[in-house]
Amino acid sequence: MIDLRDCVSTYNDKKPVTFVEKSARGVITSSLSQTMEEQHLSPNMTDQLATIYAWTIDFFRLQPGDRFKVIYSEKYINDTIPAGLGEIKAVMFEHRGKPIYAFSFIGDSIMGITDYYDDEANNLRRAFLKAPVKFSRISSRYNLKRRIKFYGNRVRPHKGTDFAAPIGTPILATADGVVTKSERRGGNGKYVKIRHNGTYETQYLHMKAQNVKKGQHVRQGDVIGWIGMTGNTGGPHVCYRFWKNGKQVDPFKQDLPLSKPLEEKYQDTYFDHIAPLKGQLDNISF
Ligand SMILES: [Zn+2]
Repeated sequence: MIDLRDCVSTYNDKKPVTFVEKSARGVITSSLSQTMEEQHLSPNMTDQLATIYAWTIDFFRLQPGDRFKVIYSEKYINDTIPAGLGEIKAVMFEHRGKPIYAFSFIGDSIMGITDYYDDEANNLRRAFLKAPVKFSRISSRYNLKRRIKFYGNRVRPHKGTDFAAPIGTPILATADGVVTKSERRGGNGKYVKIRHNGTYETQYLHMKAQNVKKGQHVRQGDVIGWIGMTGNTGGPHVCYRFWKNGKQVDPFKQDLPLSKPLEEKYQDTYFDHIAPLKGQLDNISF
């Protein structure tokens, strides 16, 4: 508080925050953010919706006519001063005529993790496969401090994880996405790179041959190429590189999204919880 009435004084204070439940709807004409603006909704809501649907809807490829309904809470100070978006409780996002529901729910009471599930209790997030090769062993892990005798014991960071397997073994896409590169280049040899969403990309090196072309959509588990020895490699393996926000990271040290459906023991509570919310959503008309 800055008090200007008499002489200027300042002090810190706390006011209680209350949450007010609200609902909104919108139809996409050009972009989600423009629709949000037209509806006087917070840009934070755009971010949150994009995060909730990161694995199910490509927000860069929304179609005019895609539409949504949302139930959320807004924060208020003293019940009167708006203080921003609270929680998104329930959403119906219709993309290409297909509605996808999302309900926030604490699916892990021990960890207290809130996640979004659809109307059948499926988690909206999808995991990556643990490995791009079904039967393989890790021959070299991600290691930024790797030293190699051959190079005079100098540090040669290894920003991938090597999975050794016989030549010709199928290499699988670890998650759904779009092929952004399928080419042969220097030490990488023949390789494929896939963009999964706004955050994650994966890359697969030293293939004998690729099985996909640039621009192609792939599903998790699709064969995108075969193990080989092209480029800079001492033996047959795939060097699997995992990109997060444009940087190579160790996929085994990432807090990666879950794909498990909601645990059986929570499901009754979940369906009781979402029934009135779904009813509320379905009653909002465009
Ligand atoms: Zn490697």
